[in-house]
Amino acid sequence: MESSSNDNRIKNIVIVGGGTAGWMTAAAFSKVLKADYCNIRLIESDNISTVSVGEATIPQISLFNKILGIDENDFIRKTQSTFKLGIEFIDWKAKGHSYMHPFGSYGTDMDAIQFHHYWLKMYQQGKAPDIEEYSLAAIASKEGRFTRPHNAGNSPLSSISYAFHFDATLYAKYLREFAVNLGVERTEGKVIDVSLRNSDGFIDSVVLESGERVSGDLFIDCSGFRGLLIEGALKTGFDDWSEWLPCDRAVAMPCMAKNSVDPYTKSTAQGAGWTWRIPLQHRIGNGYVYPSKFVSDDEDVALLRAQMESEPIGEPNFLRWTTGVRKKGWHKNCVAIGLSAGFVEPLESTGLHLIQSAIAKLLGMFPSKGFEQADIDTYNEQLNVEMERIRDFIILHYKATERDDTDFWRFCQNMKIPENLQKKMDLYQANGRIYRQDTELFNETSWLAVMHGQGLKPKGYHPLVDTLEPTEIERRLHHIKSVIDKSVSVMPMQDDFINKNCKA
Ligand SMILES: Cc1cc2nc3c(=O)[nH]c(=O)nc-3n(C[C@H](O)[C@H](O)[C@H](O)COP(=O)(O)OP(=O)(O)OC[C@H]3O[C@@H](n4cnc5c(N)ncnc54)[C@H](O)[C@@H]3O)c2cc1C
Repeated sequence: MESSSNDNRIKNIVIVGGGTAGWMTAAAFSKVLKADYCNIRLIESDNISTVSVGEATIPQISLFNKILGIDENDFIRKTQSTFKLGIEFIDWKAKGHSYMHPFGSYGTDMDAIQFHHYWLKMYQQGKAPDIEEYSLAAIASKEGRFTRPHNAGNSPLSSISYAFHFDATLYAKYLREFAVNLGVERTEGKVIDVSLRNSDGFIDSVVLESGERVSGDLFIDCSGFRGLLIEGALKTGFDDWSEWLPCDRAVAMPCMAKNSVDPYTKSTAQGAGWTWRIPLQHRIGNGYVYPSKFVSDDEDVALLRAQMESEPIGEPNFLRWTTGVRKKGWHKNCVAIGLSAGFVEPLESTGLHLIQSAIAKLLGMFPSKGFEQADIDTYNEQLNVEMERIRDFIILHYKATERDDTDFWRFCQNMKIPENLQKKMDLYQANGRIYRQDTELFNETSWLAVMHGQGLKPKGYHPLVDTLEPTEIERRLHHIKSVIDKSVSVMPMQDDFINKNCKA
């Protein structure tokens, strides 16, 4: 290893926490930094449990797997994964209504104008079916079909976008094995104290229950909601977002699957909050996310049980949090990754993505012992913007609803929302326009799926659509739909695909 500025190089990284965040960080760092660059040590306590949820992902996870170089079929077998093509939202807009938030795109763009503007014009005139009919992922989901993308020219089969449902505990175990094989040193033990340097307030070391003192140059706080280092030691502060997202509790309970496995997540709105159904190869993950202001703790398990398709196969796992984000995810020589950095409810499966994103951004801004404040500020700014955009996207599901049948839904309808979200809704409701801002996670397809799905109705459409004759638009829409339908019809059922390629 070259040693020009070697003395200033980070030589010891200490990760506190061995949940998904800790092991994702350890796996990525050990792969990218290589063993001779620095030592990586992860401390986890067997006596403090992980949250053991976090089973649904979004397509970006494939990039993470690719960077690690892991074999996807091996990963699927070892984590009991199934494939995910999107999320179905049931009873969110109104009771009895449902829509899909599919991965991938709708139709195909024509003449540099987004597809949905052409669709919108015809839909408003009653001459086109719902936007879902132009999504391969939405149609395949409902038919239970899945295949990986393969080179099929212009066919939508070339660009299938997918994610996974997996067992969170098995995923952390899988990454642990990966990281330890690449030289990460694992220490079992409870951190009971954190020592700060007198000179600058940076973290000097953590002290374990055994008495051992572990020093480091860079500390990664993956200790979960408690934020042992970032808040416990450094008192970084927290922005509370409960005024917009009042769900602050969850109970999770698995059961066995009764039928074949769906390639999508189900989210069903309840009188207050919502329940999830996440199908894995060996079981179904179920959970109820709810606001403690509107639902008492003894009502939660009963409601969840009533939604489940078979008897539970595990004890209920109760979780509590305050929705929001650390004022600074990176402060001094400590970076919070995972739940310690903040949390917005799991409605759009963004938890693991935010871990992945924090790791990527930290590698991009990787410090030396000098810790440039400009790097730290840029990292914090980027992550805050990403979190805020995700927050707004999730608030949209609650705010744009016709439901007013309970106190909870009346609260959601009437609540004030962040200005940026209001602007996005106003823009869409004028002429159906949607813009992806900055580097925000959710793209135009996602915003359209939820704005349309939740019942927002644009008054007009993009005026340039009128440059094409209506009969020509109809012809093109019809053609696009028939190509998508044909493509779906050749996709295998997900069960068959898994049995053939990656059965656990
Ligand atoms: C209800 C719910 C549902 C979710 N669903 C999804 C989903 O579908 N998709 C998704 O992407 N994300 C989801 N998430 C988020 C996801 O679960 C988390 O982002 C992910 O599990 C990371 O958790 P973590 O590792 O930060 O924390 P934890 O799992 O809490 O791990 C904390 C670790 O720190 C250790 N620790 C704590 N204190 C000490 C100490 N003093 N000494 C030593 N070790 C210590 C613990 O032993 C543990 O190893 C969900 C979250 C919740 C709450």
